[in-house]
Amino acid sequence: MNKKDLEYFEKLLFERRKQILEQLKNIEKRMRTSQQDSSSDLSLYPTHEADIATDAESREENVFIAGNRADILGRIDRALKKMSKKMYGICENCGKEIEKERLECIPYARFCVGCERERER
Ligand SMILES: [Zn+2]
Repeated sequence: MNKKDLEYFEKLLFERRKQILEQLKNIEKRMRTSQQDSSSDLSLYPTHEADIATDAESREENVFIAGNRADILGRIDRALKKMSKKMYGICENCGKEIEKERLECIPYARFCVGCERERER
């Protein structure tokens, strides 16, 4: 991978990182407001089971999304670290270069397509 490619993917990683931090912030905000909503509901109105279910569901969903985003954030940081060690774009399993098309979609990919497929089995 040449310098120009590296700069391109570095930019991609930073952009993705910014997006995810933004999303995490939004989820956090949403979870905080939904918690406030439900506690005020409890004191003011009789609660309906259906409402509780939807509430719990959306909270669960938020937790899931937040966990997923945090996971990606970790992968991005890892990729940036690899970049500083000049290891970026190298498959951590077989040591070959990861396909550029793959990095276009997943700039924080750790494995090449072949090894990823092996791991999924
Ligand atoms: Zn590989």
